[in-house]
Amino acid sequence: MWHLWAQVDREPQTGDSGRDRGNSSARGQPTGRAIRASVAGAVQGVGFRDATRRRAEQLGVLGWVRNADDGTVAVHAEGPTPAVEELVAFLRKGPRGAAVAEVSVEDVRVEGHEQFAVRGVSAGRFVVQEHAATTHHFDLRLEVAGVMRSWAVPKGPSLDPSVKRLALHVADHDIEHNAFEGPTGSGGVAVWDSGNYEQGGRVPWPEALDRGHAVFVLHGKKLEGGFALQRTGPEGSSQWLLVKRRDESARPGSDVVSEQPASVLSGRTLDQILREGS
Ligand code: MN
Repeated sequence: MWHLWAQVDREPQTGDSGRDRGNSSARGQPTGRAIRASVAGAVQGVGFRDATRRRAEQLGVLGWVRNADDGTVAVHAEGPTPAVEELVAFLRKGPRGAAVAEVSVEDVRVEGHEQFAVRGVSAGRFVVQEHAATTHHFDLRLEVAGVMRSWAVPKGPSLDPSVKRLALHVADHDIEHNAFEGPTGSGGVAVWDSGNYEQGGRVPWPEALDRGHAVFVLHGKKLEGGFALQRTGPEGSSQWLLVKRRDESARPGSDVVSEQPASVLSGRTLDQILREGS
């Protein structure tokens, strides 16, 4: 079943269409072969995914590998046909320690991946801090390369995929700041949500962020599932949009900010924190 996580990697990338790279022809039309494979047996374990990624990189095959919920290992592979076939042969044999029972392969559309990634693994922490300052906003922070990349979202995140929320790219924050909650000189901060996230998309991070389009999956206490951050201005612009992806965790019509206002650290609302102090 190709559901949430398959869609997260299938996102069309705006601002990306005219370029020629990787396994695309000069017209931007992908060439070669793409397959989805499902590998059954005693295959789930870090060794299988890492070995698959290494073999794919040796072969120049792009895509991803992940452990699926049903105990199989799922693979998307695309590239020159002989290289993809070599990778399928590798999957049928499996790395040392794995016992492959069955591999099913279906041809799919070439998606234009620029990396071979291990999916379904945490890329780091995320936090959303509600912040009363000169303006009231929510700071979405994603851990990337040892710092928290940050966007100020005036109206806060939404689980409704039809809602596009303005997100202003702001300065990186230290990871240590993630747990900060309490009054500040000019207002205060509440930890509105926190958890881990997975990176998605066809472009490796942090380059995806540099190019202004990043897809990711949040595993928070309130926020769950795929999201996209899309820069709307030219390179260097601070204006982005935060949008919930259409997946099984989407909640059309909902307003998670008003429905679940309390801090995930203390259970207090930001108003209570401002009144009571730390
Ligand atoms: Mn802020």
